[in-house]
This record gives sequence, C-alpha cells and structure tokens, in this order.
Amino acid sequence: MPKKGIIAVISGFSGAGKGTLVNELVKRYGYAVSISATTRPPRAGETEGKEYFFKTKEEFLQMIKEEKFIEYAKYVNNYYGTPKDYVFSQINSGQDVLLEIEMQGALQVKKNFPDVSLIFITPPSTAELKKRLINRGTEAADIIDKRISRAVEECSYMDKYDYIIVNDDLDKCIIQMHGLLQSLHFTKNNQKQLIESICNNFSSFLL
Ligand code: 5GP
Repeated sequence: MPKKGIIAVISGFSGAGKGTLVNELVKRYGYAVSISATTRPPRAGETEGKEYFFKTKEEFLQMIKEEKFIEYAKYVNNYYGTPKDYVFSQINSGQDVLLEIEMQGALQVKKNFPDVSLIFITPPSTAELKKRLINRGTEAADIIDKRISRAVEECSYMDKYDYIIVNDDLDKCIIQMHGLLQSLHFTKNNQKQLIESICNNFSSFLL
C-alpha cells in the first residue's frame, strides 16, 4: 500500500499571493490542489472545474446538507467549500494535497483533523497588500475595502497557524514552502505506521 499523502492548509490575507504560490508549487513539484466549490461568480478567465466548481447558493446548501464538504465557510458575501471525495482519494493514493482556504475553514480542518498543518502566507506589509489588491484589478473598490477589513479581523487569528511565511520574494517563498511541506512527512504523527512497525519488530526479538 503506498504511504498516504499529507494534507496542508494554506491561508493568507487576500492579495498575499497564495494563488500564484500554490500554482507554482503544483507546476514545479507536482502537489495536488483541491478544487473548491463556490457561489462566487467566475472572474474573467476562470473556468468551471479548474479554479473552482461554480455553484448556485441552492446547490451549495444542498451539498452542505449531503455532507459533501471537509469544511466550508462564508467569505465576503459568498460560500466556499472543500469537497471531500477528491482530497481523500488523492491522499490515499500517496499524493500530497494543498487546500488553499480562508481562516474559518482552516480552523474547522484543524478541529476535525488535528494532524493537518496550517500555514499562513503574509505579504511583508499592509501597504504592499493594498497595492497588490489594487494592481490585481479583479475586485471593485468596495470589495477591496471589505477584503482589507477582513484581513484586519484575521490578524488576531494568525497565531492559530502552525507556520507563518512572508511572501516578499516569490521564488524564495516557493522554495521555503516546498521545504516545509516535505518536512511535514517526518512529523511523528505522520510516521505513526513506521514507529509501530519498528517497535513491533524490536519487541519480537525479545520473544
Ligand atoms: P477568491 O474569491 O479570491 O478566489 O477566494 C476568497 C477566499 O476564499 C480566499 O482566501 C481563498 O483562500 C478562500 N477559499 C477558496 N476556496 C475555499 C474553500 O474551499 N473553503 C474555504 N473555507 N475558503 C476557501
């Protein structure tokens, strides 16, 4: 049986550069990334089943009722959720899976799966964050303001995360993230099977 993959949660302020970072980790190192369902309308260039599964509110609520999500949350007027099936089939086949989700969802994952590591990505400063949000040009001014207010609220929860990474230089950040993600395979909680088999073997020497 292949060794199970790990699940890692990646969150960060809107505009922290998580999307670019996750795309590069997938491209360079072959991580799988969970595709969420959302009620947010697609942005220009986004396609069904690539960035998101786009749902109506009714469809999303039905998925909640049918317990199809690992976690879900409401974020600035829309619902977002991580479908269970894909994530579990990937880790069972030995693939590492990244969940790029916001904070309420991340904390739900931690509560239900305490071994999962939570990683928070932050830009070097709030001025840089605002600049990136405005330059991205994908959101109207009122939505940018809401996303910044949300970032202010999120600050007080940053210490719930296991790791904090500053994204001031994309290449450096990608290398740091890959190193961190690989090291997660060696935590004692992810090595339970190995510990058990070694200890069983040793105890059999004593018989
Ligand atoms: P955006 O609208 O910019 O694509 O995403 C808004 C926020 O929703 C981001 O912080 C993103 O990480 C988060 N998000 C995306 N998918 C999910 C999900 O499945 N669950 C949760 N809780 N948050 C998500």
